[in-house]
Amino acid sequence: MKKTRWNLMRVSLLCAALSCHLSFAQQWTFTPHPVQGQLYMLEPANTNGNVGVMVGEDGVLLVDSHFQPAVPQLLEEVAALTDEDIKFLVNTHIHPDHIGGNSLFADYGVTIVAHDLVRVQMLKELRVPRRGGTFFPMPDPGSRPVLTYTDAISFHLNGEEVQVFHAPPAHTGGDSFVYFTGSDVLHLGDVFRTNMYPIVDHYNGGSFLGMIEAMGLAIGMAGPDTKVIPGHGQEPSDRQGMIDYQNLLFSLRDRVQEFVDRGASVEQMLAARPTEDLDARWGGVPSWTAVDLLPIIFQELTR
Ligand SMILES: [Zn+2]
Repeated sequence: MKKTRWNLMRVSLLCAALSCHLSFAQQWTFTPHPVQGQLYMLEPANTNGNVGVMVGEDGVLLVDSHFQPAVPQLLEEVAALTDEDIKFLVNTHIHPDHIGGNSLFADYGVTIVAHDLVRVQMLKELRVPRRGGTFFPMPDPGSRPVLTYTDAISFHLNGEEVQVFHAPPAHTGGDSFVYFTGSDVLHLGDVFRTNMYPIVDHYNGGSFLGMIEAMGLAIGMAGPDTKVIPGHGQEPSDRQGMIDYQNLLFSLRDRVQEFVDRGASVEQMLAARPTEDLDARWGGVPSWTAVDLLPIIFQELTR
């Protein structure tokens, strides 16, 4: 029996021990999207973090682990794609919907890899910017990456090089970009999201202006056939999708800059609703709207 299936049984037993109910399990469903080459994207029904899956004869590499209760379903989704075991898990950043499954995967012998800062950020209580700053308990010690890197690290796996490298401070200060060189697929974590306004986590080293720079770096790497997995969003994207998103960032910056140049206050800027025409497309998630984002841009532009 393949270890993944064995793991699946273990998780099912664990789930039974935790009295998981069917209705509880149902909210942790994923839609698998073939991306390109050896890559798949698992899109959760709850719109939290997408999971990247690289399959191949050497084993599976996952990008992000969603929330812990989703792990049984994640294992099932991976088992539907391949008989091979999960060998590595790369965390793109510290947020709970990207690291939540870590300790279960570690229990199964999966090696967890992340930027140095992610491990440091795991050593204390977490604060994330939604709803004015939401606290999460310190992730349990089993969640911590056992391999961390400073600038870049490469995997040589499944016949291609997988480059993991530190992005400029953007969504957080510890964002990793992952480029699958043979499959020509980029996973940008939450630096790139296609379902809502960008989240800049200033509690954890994020920067709006850095996000523009980080997107420029990704666009510069991408060719006409490159596919891109967003941290959140319903479909894999591409170079043009990243250009459109960077244009949104430029537009947000320029609109806020006008108020800064005029000597307006943050309150005056918000009262003028400078993104009214964009809010229907990008501001539909109540826990993070233009009212949350624009003051962060204002603050950076007046620094
Ligand atoms: Zn995030």
